[in-house]
Amino acid sequence: MKPTDFALARRKMVQEQLIARGIKNEKVLKAMRKVPRHLFLEEGFWPQAYGDFPLPISEGQTISQPYIVALMTEALELKGDEKILEIGTGSGYQAAVLSELVERIFSIERISSLATKARRILDELGYANVVIKVSDGTYGWEEEAPFDGIIVTAGGPEVPHVLLQQLKVGGRLVIPVGDEYSQILLRVVKKKKGYKEEDLGGCRFVKLIGDHGWKVEG
Ligand code: SAH
Repeated sequence: MKPTDFALARRKMVQEQLIARGIKNEKVLKAMRKVPRHLFLEEGFWPQAYGDFPLPISEGQTISQPYIVALMTEALELKGDEKILEIGTGSGYQAAVLSELVERIFSIERISSLATKARRILDELGYANVVIKVSDGTYGWEEEAPFDGIIVTAGGPEVPHVLLQQLKVGGRLVIPVGDEYSQILLRVVKKKKGYKEEDLGGCRFVKLIGDHGWKVEG
């Protein structure tokens, strides 16, 4: 496939998978027309990179379906000057989409080989406003808190309370919560007093593994 074919595939993806399903935020649509999703995958997956499904990255993990990336990004309601925390760097694709939209992204990945690969491709593409660290993201990133938005791209049994503490008042946390097989995508908005929780629909993610997620498998 030529670079123009990929650009065409991206336009088609945005039209048929995102706009057709109700994604309206122009900035999100523009970012997803721009970020070369295929480069975050092994070359063997490039022909399928813009398909309507998640794909394997390695270490048993997946890059989310484009629609889910768009839905979660839109749910963060970004204006451009935000500081965002991502839990689950994975391939680095979601971080690249965020990089097009906000000032600073802090992203945590628990598997170091994935973090290394993500760093390499983000550097190659010039996404310099993404900082990655390898650790258990269910603890958040205390030194950089508070955040305007937190996006968790792995599914946990519940909302890790530490993450809520690291959110600014008015900040948004987007996270899939449920069991191993299916989850509900939740948006939690921090109010002056308490939280507002919204259900954004069903989804299926790989497990959020950590002290405030699912326990490490033996
Ligand atoms: N956002 C990614 C999708 C990654 S899949 C992308 O755009 O490609 C989910 C990722 O979350 C996996 O890489 C997994 O290793 C990671 N993960 C799971 N539990 C984690 C935790 N407690 N802290 C940090 N990363 C975690």
